[in-house]
Amino acid sequence: MTAQLIDGTALSKQIRAEVAQRAAALTARGHKPGLAVILVGEDPASQVYVRNKVKACEEHGLHSVLEKYDATLSEADLLARIDALNKDASIHGILVQMPLPKHIDPTKVIEAIATTKDVDGYSVLSAGELVANLPGFRPCTPYGCMKLIESTGVSLKGKHAVVIGRSNTVGKPMALLLLQANATVTICHSATPDLAYHTRQADVIVAAVGRRDTVTAGMVKPGAIVIDVGMNRNDEGKLCGDVDFAGVSQVASAITPVPGGVGPMTITMLLVNTIESAERVAAK
Ligand code: NAP
Repeated sequence: MTAQLIDGTALSKQIRAEVAQRAAALTARGHKPGLAVILVGEDPASQVYVRNKVKACEEHGLHSVLEKYDATLSEADLLARIDALNKDASIHGILVQMPLPKHIDPTKVIEAIATTKDVDGYSVLSAGELVANLPGFRPCTPYGCMKLIESTGVSLKGKHAVVIGRSNTVGKPMALLLLQANATVTICHSATPDLAYHTRQADVIVAAVGRRDTVTAGMVKPGAIVIDVGMNRNDEGKLCGDVDFAGVSQVASAITPVPGGVGPMTITMLLVNTIESAERVAAK
């Protein structure tokens, strides 16, 4: 079997076209959606990430504000900026790029963002909303994975999904979203003794580990859907995922590539969350 490629770039383009339409409709009603992105320090990877987020806003009709601060910014000053953005009616989403300098407590910062503007979905309240099936913002990467699975046309109802990884930003919310979609969910992690035992039973595998070749062909049930969240480098320095793509694509029915799978969906779902936030305000 050769798996169908789940093309995150193409799906992302389609969803972004819808985002642009929704942004234009909101703007016409006087509610131009706005995202504030805060970067503290000079981390090179973070600089690229925030630039891409701002660029994506600009290209799709959202208003964006990029606030860059020196690594010496105090925690109190950062919290004061978040407070001001919480009160700013032109801003519907606030994102603080991680990691923060060591003297700033990331939990304090995330919890300072108003839940109504927590478009990253990282706060304890947003996590609680997800657990309780309440409307709220879903963390962008797992939300994007759900869209990728949906795009295959396969219903998750009654399927067995195995999530590898249990981070607060990817693995755990991913498992909850799959559960909400009526899958039976198993979560594996570094203390799982026999990972292959679990993955071989899965109709859907989501790998979010950060170690290449974590999932190989012999670990996959024929016909399974495989979503690869991992971002690693191979021996040639090229970007690769957690899944041995060449081998697993001979067994799975559908698979995401790296790059071009989950990656493009993450910023797209950030735009979607910001639009949803602005639509909630406009509906009041
Ligand atoms: P993380 O916080 O480091 O979590 C990794 C998880 O993998 C942990 O729960 C860990 O278990 C588990 N794990 C480690 N070794 C394992 C093993 N041998 N078998 C089974 N589970 C194992 O990472 P993350 O933030 O969730 O990210 C995971 C990967 O996704 C990374 O490569 C990251 O770069 C990538 N990522 C990509 C995007 C994107 O947009 N494409 C977005 C976010 C993350 P323990 O909990 O027991 O330690």
